[in-house]
Amino acid sequence: MKLTSYICTKYSQWKTFSIQHPCALCLEDCDAPNLLCPDCITDLPLFNYGDGSSCLICAIPLVVSANSPEENTSRLICGQCLKKRPHYMQNMCSFRYEFPIDKWLHKIKIQHQQSLIQPLAKLMLLHPPELLTELSVKHDLALTFVPSPPQQLLKRGFNLAEQLCSILARDLQRPVFSNVLVANRKTAKDLTPQKRLKREDRLKNIRQKFSLNPRIDFAKHTIPKTVILVDDVTTTGATINHCAQLLKQAGAEQVYVWCLARATLD
Ligand SMILES: [Zn+2]
Ligand SMILES: [Zn+2]
Repeated sequence: MKLTSYICTKYSQWKTFSIQHPCALCLEDCDAPNLLCPDCITDLPLFNYGDGSSCLICAIPLVVSANSPEENTSRLICGQCLKKRPHYMQNMCSFRYEFPIDKWLHKIKIQHQQSLIQPLAKLMLLHPPELLTELSVKHDLALTFVPSPPQQLLKRGFNLAEQLCSILARDLQRPVFSNVLVANRKTAKDLTPQKRLKREDRLKNIRQKFSLNPRIDFAKHTIPKTVILVDDVTTTGATINHCAQLLKQAGAEQVYVWCLARATLD
């Protein structure tokens, strides 16, 4: 009798432990294996393409005129992309860089809470970009990531884009095309925040920051034709554009970007 009672107690403890996960936002107990309860997942700042608020290619926020809504929906590509198309096909963003995404990224990057990376990647998969269905049937699809500069990697101990990329690739059952891009060592000049630099200086800075891996002979190496470049946050878009350019130089035909969150420039 005592043994039965002991087993019942243990079972009930195990059941409580294994099923109830407090939601990271509202602290409600929920049985979802993700970070959040279903209600909080619904409230996430999802990035919406095609609603006229952002460029269909680079995802930069567009200036919305209150006077002419018809004009807004017909002008879905920003002036910069109209002038010169980026080297990537589309920047497929999962979320806007707003609460709670910004707070979690802070916890991961500054407080090094790596346990939040997996749930964030799962949330990206829960809201996949529209184009992903089309891309996932391509036989020659591989994923890669924006590399971290050596000093940052040493300080943080991990590259968030690389970690997201490996979780997404595992779920999509696609290879990670790693070591193709390298981030060069930062110089004192690079420490000026990108947002404070002029566009030309920013582009020059970015060009010096990343390069193709000099240890790979790309003439002999088979490069996947379609590549998804994974990044955590897009701000100016200069980094992803330069990385996409390098991937094309290496032999990729089409580069798509999948980033966790799109930040605004202000
Ligand atoms: Zn919740
Ligand atoms: Zn654009």
